[in-house]
Amino acid sequence: MLVLNPSYIVSMNENIGVIKDGFVGIEKGIITYLSKKKPPQYEELIPLPGRVLLPGFINTHTHVAMTLLRGLKDDVDLQTWLMKYILPLEKLLKPKDVYYGALYGIAEMIKNGITMFMDMYYHEIEVARAVADARIRAVLTYGSADVFFNVSPEEEFKKAEKFREDLLSFVVSKNLKNFIFFAYGPHSPYGCTKELLQIIREAASKHRARIHIHLSETEKEVKEFLKTYRMTPIEYLETLKFLRNDVMAAHVVWATDKDIKILSRRGVHVLHNPTSNLKLASGIAPIPKLLSSKVNVALATDGPASNNRLDMWKEITLAALIHKGVLKDPEVIPAKIALKMATANGAKALGLEDRLGSIEIGKFADFILIDIKKALESTPFHDIHSMLVYALDSRYIESVWIHGKPVYSQEEGFLTINVERLRDKIEDIRARLLSEAK
Ligand SMILES: [Zn+2]
Repeated sequence: MLVLNPSYIVSMNENIGVIKDGFVGIEKGIITYLSKKKPPQYEELIPLPGRVLLPGFINTHTHVAMTLLRGLKDDVDLQTWLMKYILPLEKLLKPKDVYYGALYGIAEMIKNGITMFMDMYYHEIEVARAVADARIRAVLTYGSADVFFNVSPEEEFKKAEKFREDLLSFVVSKNLKNFIFFAYGPHSPYGCTKELLQIIREAASKHRARIHIHLSETEKEVKEFLKTYRMTPIEYLETLKFLRNDVMAAHVVWATDKDIKILSRRGVHVLHNPTSNLKLASGIAPIPKLLSSKVNVALATDGPASNNRLDMWKEITLAALIHKGVLKDPEVIPAKIALKMATANGAKALGLEDRLGSIEIGKFADFILIDIKKALESTPFHDIHSMLVYALDSRYIESVWIHGKPVYSQEEGFLTINVERLRDKIEDIRARLLSEAK
């Protein structure tokens, strides 16, 4: 057993709380010991004075290969950004481009303490290869959208099924069942026909797979649904019997009170992307209302082209701040809840709460070590959650561990990814895409 002895273990489990000067034991990638007392036997003990051990962040919604399109067009609204700039270039992406874009984005996520993410994109099997090479964890979804691609629902569903089969055999052949998970990814109620949504709902229930979807992201989306169907997108999905506790809905910025009741009743998980919603001027999601209606809310960065960073710490701080300002209420989303949204709630949203999201015996040893001595802002502190959320940021992440092994440290850099070589690749792809688009 490898034992770590940090100054603070911030477990993110209500019953365990914060352990001062405690011991975490790891065997074969799993946490097997957690106590204030030193274990009687161990192979190696690493004292970590001045360090905080926190569960790895779970980024529940991204399109990681979009690192390739980062900064392509900023300061426009979502519809213009997506239709005029992003989709035309995405059509030119080759499978290998997606692999390199994903691996580069994964490097950025790892450095920022993200140990698990959920993705939605095209050529998604290439994202699986990048996940395997980087040794991170992920839920992967192919973004189904028969409306965008102008194909029949059956034809589009075939692509989702092909991805499911390819991914499952990839996972088996590489022995990655603890690292890579499948979910369906119908893009949105406006990107999919009713038929496709129904086919996917049925298949998800049959295969016990979860569903990852964009929902009520912009006012325009909601207005168009009201005009066409006299229903909000959430009411529309409810009439299709689409919403259940296996649905993970990104954004939900424009949910009405009635929508929130539906989401709560159906146990839908909401994935909150504060930076992306602000940057694309989509609005600010009613997160405090969702939380008080007992909806599980997790945090996410969204893709690097609409953020433009894959840094969960930034989202944590922002989530803790913006809702206070909007509602003029300092008590909404306290620091601890913001941290929970990035860890335990994320695990719950992905249906992996028995394996991830907190420091507990039996869970995967996925965590980050934060060097609080390096931060002037950590002295003094009275509440550790507040100090982390309001005073520090991802610069103080000293090392990132997945399945009991470091994948990044400030001292040694990336241990699974050659970032310098990748950087040149990314530049080459960017240049090729722009010349082909001209
Ligand atoms: Zn998205």
